[in-house]
Amino acid sequence: MMRQYELVDRVRRYNPQTDEALLDRAYVYAMKAHGTQVRASGDPYFSHPLEVAAILTDLKLDDATIVAALLHDTIEDTDATKAEIERLFGAQIAQLVEGLTKIKKLDLVSKQAKQAENLRKLLLAIADDVRVLLVKLADRLHNMRTLQYVPTEKRDRVAQETLDIYAPLAARMGMQEMREELEDLAFRQLMPEAYQSITERVEELRERNGPLVQEIEQELEAELQRRDMQAEVKGREKRPHSIWGKMERKAISFEQLSDLYGFRIIVESVEDCYRALGLVHTKWAIVPGRFKDYISTPKPNDYRSLHTTVIGPRRQRVELQIRTHDMDEIAEYGIAAHALYKDDSGAPGVMLSNESRAYAWLRKTIENLAQGLSPEEFLEHTKLELFHDQVFCFTPKGRLIALPRKATPIDFAYAVHTDVGNTAVGCKINGNIAPLVSELKNGDEVEIITSKAQTPPGAWETIAVTGKARAAVRRATRAAVRAQYAGLGRKISERAFSRAGKPFSDEAVAKGMSRLARTAVEDVFAAVGRGEIKTDDLIRAVHPDWTAQRPEERVAGSRAHGEGWFELKKGHNLKFKIPEGAEEAETLAAIPIRGNNANLPVRFAPDGGAVPGDRIVGILAPGEGITIYPIQSSALQDFEDTPERWLDVRWDVDELSDGRFPARIRVTALNEPGTLGQVASVIGERNGNIQGLEMRSRSPDFTELLIDLEVFDLRHLNGILTDLRGRPVVSSAERVNG
Ligand code: MN
Repeated sequence: MMRQYELVDRVRRYNPQTDEALLDRAYVYAMKAHGTQVRASGDPYFSHPLEVAAILTDLKLDDATIVAALLHDTIEDTDATKAEIERLFGAQIAQLVEGLTKIKKLDLVSKQAKQAENLRKLLLAIADDVRVLLVKLADRLHNMRTLQYVPTEKRDRVAQETLDIYAPLAARMGMQEMREELEDLAFRQLMPEAYQSITERVEELRERNGPLVQEIEQELEAELQRRDMQAEVKGREKRPHSIWGKMERKAISFEQLSDLYGFRIIVESVEDCYRALGLVHTKWAIVPGRFKDYISTPKPNDYRSLHTTVIGPRRQRVELQIRTHDMDEIAEYGIAAHALYKDDSGAPGVMLSNESRAYAWLRKTIENLAQGLSPEEFLEHTKLELFHDQVFCFTPKGRLIALPRKATPIDFAYAVHTDVGNTAVGCKINGNIAPLVSELKNGDEVEIITSKAQTPPGAWETIAVTGKARAAVRRATRAAVRAQYAGLGRKISERAFSRAGKPFSDEAVAKGMSRLARTAVEDVFAAVGRGEIKTDDLIRAVHPDWTAQRPEERVAGSRAHGEGWFELKKGHNLKFKIPEGAEEAETLAAIPIRGNNANLPVRFAPDGGAVPGDRIVGILAPGEGITIYPIQSSALQDFEDTPERWLDVRWDVDELSDGRFPARIRVTALNEPGTLGQVASVIGERNGNIQGLEMRSRSPDFTELLIDLEVFDLRHLNGILTDLRGRPVVSSAERVNG
C-alpha cells in the first residue's frame, strides 16, 4: 500500500504549492475511518481510496480532488458525516464528498425510467462540480481493475454500466486514456472470448511487426529533425476494444484490419503541425479521404489534432496524429487537463478553463434538465449526445434501441428480437415505408413489418452491421436450407415408400434411423433431400427384408397425378397445374405442394427448356428442387430408374399472358454474307427475342447457329421455326431440347 509520504511526493511533483498538512490529515482520517474494513480481495479497504487518489495524481489534479478521493467512501461506509468532514476539511471538500456519496448508489443499468432519473442525478452532481466526475471515474477505474474480486453475478452489471455510461462520459470529457482503459476492462469482462482472440492476434502481429514500429518512429523523428523541428514520435497499438469496435462497425474480420498501429507526432507549435504534415505527405503516399483537420475545427470535447493515414514502409497503412504538447495533454486527459490551470479562488466549477468545450457541453445538458424534459426524454437526449459513434432509434412504443453508426433496419429488427429479425419483410422509418437496407439516423422511429412466411435472405449477412444480426442471419439461412432439403427429402421418401407398398410415417422412418447413422427423422429427410441417402437404402433400413423392384417393372406407372400447383420462385410468375383425376392420384395427393408452402425452387432444365404448349414433366432433384423438362427431352432418360422423382405437371394456361420462356434452336444456314442478318430479321419479325447466339462452322459451305430465344409459347416457337425453314439460306431449323 502506498505510504503517506509517497502520495504527497506524487502530488508535489506537479504541484509544488500543495498543502501537505491537508493531504496528511485526509490520509490519516480515511485510514482510521475505514479501520479494519477489508475489500473483497482481502486488502484493507483503505487501499481503495488511496489507489483512487493515486490515479488522480496521474491526472495532476488539485488538492481538493485528491482529498475528496481519499474520503470518497467515508460517509457511505463509515461513521463519518458531512458535518464532520466540513469541520475538518472545509465546505468545498465536504460538498465534493457528499456529491460522490449521492451518486454512489445510482444504478445506471436499471429500467429505463429509473436509469434516466439516475443519469440525471449523476449529471447534476457533476454539474455542481466536475471534480465529482473525475473522482467517480477514478473510483470506477480502480473498481474495474479489481473486478476479479467482485462476486461473479455483479461483474457483468458493473462492466455494462461502465461501457454504457462511464466510458462515454470520459470520452465526452475528452479523457481518452481513461475511456480506453475503462472500455477494455469492460470488454474483457463482457466478451471474454472476443477479448482474448483479439489480444492474441495483436500479440502475434506485435512479434511480426515489432521492429516496424520502431523503424517508423526513428525514421520520422530523424526526418523532422533534419527540418529543424523538435518532434517526439510515439507509435502505439490500438486497444482491443477499439479494434473490436472497428471490426463491428465495418463488418470486417481481423485479417482485413489494416491499421492496427497509430503514430503520434508531438511538435512545438501549431505551425510545426502543418509542416510535419507536409513532410509526411511528401514522404509517403496518402490514403485518400482520411485527412482531418481538428486544429482549425476542434471536436466538441476540445480535442485538437491533425489526422492522416499514409501507406508506410512495407506497404502498411499507418495512421498519424499530429499535434502540439498542449493539444496532446488535452487529448489524453481532456477536462482533467484544464484543472491544471485552475483559478485559485477555489470556488467550485471555476477551476475549469472557460475555454473548455467539454464543460460547455455539460452545462448545456444540465440546462436541458431545467427545461423540464421527462426522464425518458432526458435519457434520449443525453444518450444521443453522449455516444457519438452510435445511433439511437426507437420502437413505435418508445423503446430505445442503441446501434452502431451505419446500422440498418435489419440490425434494428435483430436488436429488438431475433424472431423479429428473422421474419422482417419491410419497415417504416418515421411512418414512411423504407427499404430494410436504409441507414438509420439518430432519433428515427422504426417499425418493422414482419411475416411468418419470411426467412432472412442470405445477402443480409453482408448488409447488417451488428455482429448479432449477422450471426442470426447465418443461423437462419443454414436452418432454412436444411428445412428445404428436409422438406424435399420427405416428399421423395414418401413417394418411395408408397411405391414400395410400405406405410410411411415419421415413426416408421425413425425405426431405420440408427442403421443410417442419423439421430433425428429430420436429419434423415435432409440427407435424402441432399442426395446423401438413397431412398432404396432408406426403405431397406426400415424394412431389412425388402428388395427393390427392377427399374423396368415400375417405369410404366411412374407418372404421378393429382391436384395442386407450383409457383415459380424466380422470373415469371407462372403456375403449373397438375392434372386431376388421373389414375395415380393418391401418390401425388401425398405431396402437399401448394403455392409456395413447399418452399421448393422450381426451374427449367438448363438446356432446352420447356415452353407453354409443351407437355412437361417435373423432376424432384435432391438438393435443387423441381426441374421442368419438356416430355421429349432426352435428359429424362437419366431419371428412368428413379420414378419416385417424377411429377406430372401441366401449364396453367390462364396465368400465361405475356410471359416469355427460354427455348434453344439450331439453325443450319449457308455460309455467306448476310445470312446472320436474315435469320435475325425473321426472328425479329415474329417478335421473338434473341438472348444468345453461338456460331460454328461445320463445313466451308454451312454455318451452324445455336440461338437462345425467348418465346411466348410452343405455337410462337413453331411459327419462328417454320418461317426460318422457308428462307432459301436456311437448310434446317430445329428445336434443341436435349
Ligand atoms: Mn469507491
